[in-house]
Amino acid sequence: MAETNLDLAGLERHVKIRRDSRAKRMALRLDPANRCVHLVLPRFASPRKAQHFIDEHRQWVFDRISELPEFIPFVDGEVIPVLGREVEIVVRYDEHRKSTKIELQDHILLVETNLEDYEPRIKRFLKNLAREYLTDMLEEKTSNLTRQSKKIQIRDTKSRWGSCSADGNISLSWRLIFAPLNAMDYVVAHEAAHLEHMDHSKRFWNLCEKLCVSYKDGKSWMRKHGYTLHRYG
Ligand SMILES: [Zn+2]
Repeated sequence: MAETNLDLAGLERHVKIRRDSRAKRMALRLDPANRCVHLVLPRFASPRKAQHFIDEHRQWVFDRISELPEFIPFVDGEVIPVLGREVEIVVRYDEHRKSTKIELQDHILLVETNLEDYEPRIKRFLKNLAREYLTDMLEEKTSNLTRQSKKIQIRDTKSRWGSCSADGNISLSWRLIFAPLNAMDYVVAHEAAHLEHMDHSKRFWNLCEKLCVSYKDGKSWMRKHGYTLHRYG
């Protein structure tokens, strides 16, 4: 079936159509990170039924997308959460400067720059900051474990905040820097606990809880609000 023949009537940017041979029924899945909804079609769904399904859910798609938080760019005057506190981006532009200097103060991210397009520099700064914090947190949590992490990678992942491979490599999203500290702490503890238990068994969750500062709050924050971390930058 030619999925492109579906009439999405204005929702083209927000609906991505995907065939899934294992899907039993048509379904819509919200993907906040990409600001879209995935329309999942079983292998043999007819075009007519698919069209009917999308027509029926048009309002639902529209409502879900409009509810998503707006993007917040890294520009002068915007306020972003960094390591649990609200921080205003303050840019001092001076064409005679030789380089860009960025400094995180209590409630200000001070950017002194000669660049008109300074956003990538702010992103790099925040990524490096995230790397420092996440690495320290992870080292602290793994110091009493029998296995240490081999390598830690800081990534910009869309679907997962962290992962741990069987050989002990841990990946974490730099966007955790926008989360409250207890949520960031929970994600790091979760991956650290995987060094000892590669499953989500009772033993795993017990260890995860032990490694956390505030297990319940951190976990529930990530579940409810995790997707909002994609709105920055
Ligand atoms: Zn896990």
